[in-house]
Amino acid sequence: MNKKDEVFNFYPGPATLPQEVIQKAQKEFADYDNIGFSICETSHRGNAFQSVLQNTKDNIRELLEVPDNYSILFLQGGASLQFAMTPMNLAVDDKPALYADTGSWTTKAIKEAKKICNTKVVYSGEEHNYQQIGNFSEWENLTSDASYLYVCSNNTIAGTQFHYFPELEGVPLVADMSSDIMSRQLDISKFGLIFAGAQKNLGPAGVTVVIIRNDLAERVKDEVPTMLKYSTHIDKDSAFNTPPVFPVYMVGLVTEWIKDQGGLQAVEEINNTKAANLYDRIDATDFYRGTAAEADRSKMNVTFRLPSEDLEKQFLKEAEENNLIGLKGHRSVGGVRASIYNAMPLSGVSALIDFMSEFEDKNS
Ligand code: PMP
Repeated sequence: MNKKDEVFNFYPGPATLPQEVIQKAQKEFADYDNIGFSICETSHRGNAFQSVLQNTKDNIRELLEVPDNYSILFLQGGASLQFAMTPMNLAVDDKPALYADTGSWTTKAIKEAKKICNTKVVYSGEEHNYQQIGNFSEWENLTSDASYLYVCSNNTIAGTQFHYFPELEGVPLVADMSSDIMSRQLDISKFGLIFAGAQKNLGPAGVTVVIIRNDLAERVKDEVPTMLKYSTHIDKDSAFNTPPVFPVYMVGLVTEWIKDQGGLQAVEEINNTKAANLYDRIDATDFYRGTAAEADRSKMNVTFRLPSEDLEKQFLKEAEENNLIGLKGHRSVGGVRASIYNAMPLSGVSALIDFMSEFEDKNS
């Protein structure tokens, strides 16, 4: 096999970013917009950063068609802090918070919620090793008398994704979209709260984007610490304290790049093609075996196995020698995982597919 010149980074996050974005950030790094110093050196209350913040919010609002009664926030603490902030802000006395447990990230969210409020698990994929999400009609305890219903739209480790979302009359839907935000068009009005760590589809690690319906932020009790209230950050436009200036700037560049690609419709079409090509290659023979139930397959994290763990090791080693990096499955599940977020070009997926065919020919 010939070593290819271009390196394709399939890491699950922090993940590959668009080359155009990296280059623009590099060009602007020392002197942002002719101000004579870096965006990292500007006051978060100064004009330069204030316009970055506004443009970034505008881009997100435009791309996702976020309705006017929702706020867009840039918070810290990772998606993991949202596991606690969600119940702290949205749980209403006596009304259970409903959770679908579809993998490690929801298991962690449930653990946090249980410390804070009455929590009911409406679905657990554990007995199926989280390889399927299942039919909403089979979920249990789906009562309308609930604080909210919580899902993780894309399960980064298990490689499953919601292709449509449950609806529960009068119950706000909360979604952890860390690993598929901005990968497809969505009707935001169906959600009460969306959050996403930026480091997969939006930018570097260090900022979490939150989209919240404003009335839900009013539920919070006074005793919740100030920094942990969504209402604080809504009132202060994400500048109650110093926001993560550089990550927000990078999210601005990435969202600009998405607009240049033709917006979410165009990005979704490319993502569909990338995922379809890769799953077709997996399904073409018995050598590779997709791990997720077919109906729930993720278009962002494609997980598969080879006939033996030894072959998997060999596959990962040779892939790396061919500049296909970061394909190791999560340590909790093993196997292979190709993370093909927005910034992974079709040519990267094609290079992986070619490598898979060559590897199979040599080893089957
Ligand atoms: N949710 C999902 C779906 C994730 O994939 C991750 C990180 N991989 C997290 C939450 C946790 O994010 P963070 O590290 O930003 O806390």
